[in-house]
Amino acid sequence: THVVTDNCIKCKFTDCVEVCPVDCFYEGENMLVIHPDECIDCGVCVPECPAEAIFPDTDLAAAPQWLRLNQEYAEKWPNITRKK
Ligand code: SF4
Repeated sequence: THVVTDNCIKCKFTDCVEVCPVDCFYEGENMLVIHPDECIDCGVCVPECPAEAIFPDTDLAAAPQWLRLNQEYAEKWPNITRKK
């Protein structure tokens, strides 16, 4: 899965949401997260993120807490989908 990290906090852009083919972003007050059970690891959101906040979880050896936080918050925050 891919995960959103703290560079996302207070970012106002949602370019990632517009390209995600499976609409697996969830939105909290200050940031977005990715639902790890829904992400298909396509990677298209990574270059779209202006804050460089999205990484494959395999690149996050130093920050496994971000995977846990993405999972936890994706289950409580509302889904955010592409504008139709
Ligand atoms: Fe969506 Fe693909 Fe990014 Fe996963 S890697 S959040 S499926 S755009």
